[in-house]
Amino acid sequence: MNKPTNKNFITNIIDNDNNTNKFSGRVQTRFPPEPNGYLHIGHAKSICLNFEISKSYNGKCNLRFDDTNPEKENVEFIESIKKDIEWLGYQWDEMHFASDYFNNLYNYALKLISEGYAYIDSSSPDEIKRERGTLTEPGINSKDRDRAIEENLKIFEEMKNGKHEDGKYILRLKIDMSSPNINMRDPIIYRIKNFKHHKTGNDWCIYPMYDFTHCISDAIENVTHSLCTLEFEDHRELYDWIIKKIGHVNKPQQIEFARLALEHNLMSKRKLSQLVEEKYVSGWDDPRMPTISGMRRRGFTPNSIKDFCSRIGITKKNSSIEMGVLENTIREELNLTARRIMGVLDPLKITITNYPENDSEEIFASNNPNKDNEGKRGITISKHIFIDKNDFMEIPEKKYFRLAPGKEVRLRHAFNIVCNNIVKDNSGNIIELECTFDPVSRDMSKGNKVKGMIHWVDANNCVDATVNIYDRLFSDPNPLNLKSFNKKSLIVKKNAKIEKNVNLNNYEERYQFERVGYFIRDNKSSNKNIVYNKIVSLKDSWKKISK
Ligand code: ATP
Ligand code: MG
Repeated sequence: MNKPTNKNFITNIIDNDNNTNKFSGRVQTRFPPEPNGYLHIGHAKSICLNFEISKSYNGKCNLRFDDTNPEKENVEFIESIKKDIEWLGYQWDEMHFASDYFNNLYNYALKLISEGYAYIDSSSPDEIKRERGTLTEPGINSKDRDRAIEENLKIFEEMKNGKHEDGKYILRLKIDMSSPNINMRDPIIYRIKNFKHHKTGNDWCIYPMYDFTHCISDAIENVTHSLCTLEFEDHRELYDWIIKKIGHVNKPQQIEFARLALEHNLMSKRKLSQLVEEKYVSGWDDPRMPTISGMRRRGFTPNSIKDFCSRIGITKKNSSIEMGVLENTIREELNLTARRIMGVLDPLKITITNYPENDSEEIFASNNPNKDNEGKRGITISKHIFIDKNDFMEIPEKKYFRLAPGKEVRLRHAFNIVCNNIVKDNSGNIIELECTFDPVSRDMSKGNKVKGMIHWVDANNCVDATVNIYDRLFSDPNPLNLKSFNKKSLIVKKNAKIEKNVNLNNYEERYQFERVGYFIRDNKSSNKNIVYNKIVSLKDSWKKISK
């Protein structure tokens, strides 16, 4: 048996169960998304946990759509969830829908009614809420709690047959209104909802509630370890009660772990969907979104996401992870793998006045200094180049070592230049710099020693592109709502210039634009309008700024 590389309290429980032969040594998990939105990085934590555990114990892991709320769920979400899990590199053993079990669930409900463990209640939602009690006060029995079993069965059948409108009746478990655990105070397990379901169509007008559905679905599929997030800890008593009362032979064990929270992000599908619907972002796959599809478009790799999930670990303590942890994983990977090219985001034109007209030369530079076998690329340079506006200051501050009037600077991989003249338009804006180069400095050891080195592209041999630069989605590290949405989370550079070596036919290739950051082609951009997305900066500059 391959043991998991990451030991945690859950694998300890499983090891122990295997030692005591609790599930005959079987391990089966499931990932149970509700198809009411796209998956986010929090789900990735759960996906990695469930699939990695099943893999390392030679067990099984099912994908099960928890589709019991027909109004909010749809096929687009189902397809995106399947795609995202596969993109992460996981394959489920079986795919199921909770709605596959609607018949079983109905029959179990009938069984519970017949045995006096469930009853039909006609109380209003307000009454139910009032009678439920509080953490310190017990609840009150409903007026319908002692309705005769025959009558309960009759009304439940009428509900199923569409005789009653939404909200008229509900089915509740009959447990204990004075239980210290509020989840045990006669929870609702069925409600009437005249709504077409994406899978069962109009077959049903009553739908089971999550707590009733989830444990029974686990038992039907013979799940051994049902891993969920901490907010379900208080539901475990109910989970076990239902499994016991329906008398199922399989007794899956619920284990809770801490949800992932990521600073400057929201991790709830409801709020992410609000960002999409209210057009704060361009869609679920906007590269700023913490969704898997957004992160894919942003340039994260499946490995970087899995690596992140493994680094944060599995515990029982909720905490919020710094964005830097996520960004470091992709940065470290790209430093090793990304091809180097040069790109200028805010171009400023330079004419090298002593460079021959209509001439050019080819310079060879490493494709990736971390990978010797990646070889070299040829970059051309000529009389006209672009540098980044940031790399020039008309009146330089102290310790500014880049280009300034009269100052000498090195063009990366090429030679040194000196700025002799600034060309301005009528409004005083700088439109061009006139520089001269020192031919001797082609050999770095022979030219003047200079402190500044800047990147550039050959104006006669480059690609025009738009580049999207991203920042934190929310300025508040722990946002509660959309109020602190960062309006500067997207900055568009419309006139960027990229070295000709960029491969425009490869949408997967990630590049390091030297001195600037890591970039990937936007998967929605055509060759008519070439767009690159910034994945991450070269260094963790955010940390410095925020301090
Ligand atoms: P959301 O509020 O984003 O809709 P959810 O828990 O309702 O979250 P589900 O589709 O029900 O979303 O989640 C599927 C699985 O993913 C569940 O087992 C859930 O516990 C887990 N999960 C959801 N969010 C996180 C998170 N932030 N960290 C870890 N696991 C999560
Ligand atoms: Mg949910």
